[in-house]
Amino acid sequence: MQEKLSKLENDIRASLEHARDPASLEAVRIKYLGRKGEINRLFKDLTQCSAEERKAFGEAINRLKNDVSKGLEARLEAFGAESRSDVDLLLPGTRPKVGHLHPLTKVFGQIITFFKSHGFTVETGPEIEYDWYNFGALNMAKDHPARDMFSSFFIKNDLLLRSHTSPVQIRTMEKQKPPIKIICPGRCYRYDAFDASHSPVFHQVEALYVDKGVSFGELKWILSEFVKYIFGPKTKYQLRPSFFPFTEPSGEMAVSCMVCGGSGCSVCGNSGWLEMLGCGMVHPNVLKNVKISPRDYSGYALGMGVERVAMVKYVIDDIRTFYNNDVRFLEQF
Ligand SMILES: [Zn+2]
Repeated sequence: MQEKLSKLENDIRASLEHARDPASLEAVRIKYLGRKGEINRLFKDLTQCSAEERKAFGEAINRLKNDVSKGLEARLEAFGAESRSDVDLLLPGTRPKVGHLHPLTKVFGQIITFFKSHGFTVETGPEIEYDWYNFGALNMAKDHPARDMFSSFFIKNDLLLRSHTSPVQIRTMEKQKPPIKIICPGRCYRYDAFDASHSPVFHQVEALYVDKGVSFGELKWILSEFVKYIFGPKTKYQLRPSFFPFTEPSGEMAVSCMVCGGSGCSVCGNSGWLEMLGCGMVHPNVLKNVKISPRDYSGYALGMGVERVAMVKYVIDDIRTFYNNDVRFLEQF
């Protein structure tokens, strides 16, 4: 019995010394002082001793029990003092990491907000389209060479993944009488190789305004407001003639380079300008195709790649960075 007692005493002392934190102290307490702990087991052993021994060892065990309790308390207090001195309650807390919007989602939101604030409503449509909506109704007959510009993914003869969001314009003009003032944001598909400036899946926002007497001047005005809103009030823009089968006349808008401000640098190829979007007055044939009389009505349309806007705005030279999910890139926005 005496042997057991001294061995236990040594064990406890060692355990107390080794405990490095309050949790390990609690483990020590349970191991020795717990209801099924080693000290209680010793009390049970007493039943096998003689009456004299029982008295002596009983006292010894009780003493040990008290010593352990005191030892635990002292160690716990020491930890408390240490941890109290470590914590400066006046320091600001650690800010938890909160996620944020993807740069493309942000730019998408800004474009949509701009047009909504100018009275446009949002229209959406299917991503798998009929040839008619993607091409035919947009003044591109089956043999029209401009179809090549759209590198489309055909599913069947007459069915394809839409290569622009213009089919939504057609669908809206079919079911709605002018005035029509809509934007069509959405995903588009083209079989371009995945390189620094092309992605087989990309995003577009197109705007369409059809009413009596809509003029090119109104198109120019909305573009100038758009440039100021998205790229800042100091950004200049330039309209150049272009060609699209579905608009006449057609234009292309460029904005002054975000890096050099128009004086020329490597980002803009020393031209000072970055191409931004295509636009024009809706072609009379397109209006006829949706049974709107081009004698009574006119309209403008414009369309942009959301990736392109984000690349110009944030000076990003590789479209793939938007899809790589590299947190170091995404955290900058
Ligand atoms: Zn430049």
